[in-house]
Amino acid sequence: MTMSVEEKLGVNKFFVNEGKPHIEIDPNYPDMKEKLKLVKACPGGLYKLNENGTLSFDYAGCLECGTCRILCLGTVVKKWEYPESTMGVEYRYG
Ligand code: SF4
Repeated sequence: MTMSVEEKLGVNKFFVNEGKPHIEIDPNYPDMKEKLKLVKACPGGLYKLNENGTLSFDYAGCLECGTCRILCLGTVVKKWEYPESTMGVEYRYG
């Protein structure tokens, strides 16, 4: 049976550290190219461009891959850390 990416991601479990994000961003960063990099590259689809050009981000579904850190730490991404011990993603497939 073939599973879609969404189905595979859906079987993971996430232990969210509410109120203590492990990644913080500047949603109003002025360079649109930097923001679009994140929208296109995040495998979890967690970066969304709003109609007014600001960026929305939800750290709760983070796969901890580090892509946004490599691409935009120091520009849009202001802080990138792994979640605290026992928090974050628990992979269930593959
Ligand atoms: S670490 Fe990976 S999954 Fe998490 S927000 Fe960054 S690009 Fe998305």
